[in-house]
Amino acid sequence: MEEVSIMVARCRGICDMIRAKQTLRRPKHLPYLTHSQCRVCRIWFDKKVLKTPRCPCCSTILAILPRENYKKKVYRAALHGASPWN
Ligand SMILES: [Zn+2]
Ligand SMILES: [Zn+2]
Repeated sequence: MEEVSIMVARCRGICDMIRAKQTLRRPKHLPYLTHSQCRVCRIWFDKKVLKTPRCPCCSTILAILPRENYKKKVYRAALHGASPWN
């Protein structure tokens, strides 16, 4: 029997190896547009090379948008080509 339902995702240290190979760790401008973040491991993954939306280290579903609402607004605007300020 699997114990996935109540288990808290934990970093298994695999991300350290991934991090070591990464050249670009976090894009400066709107990182979520091209990358997804694991909030457990604090690592960014390039969406183009990502095969699953889960972290290969802790299996957490990766974040595709920031937590803050005002930042989400900026991303939505960037994705849909509208101004975030109206
Ligand atoms: Zn990790
Ligand atoms: Zn992780």
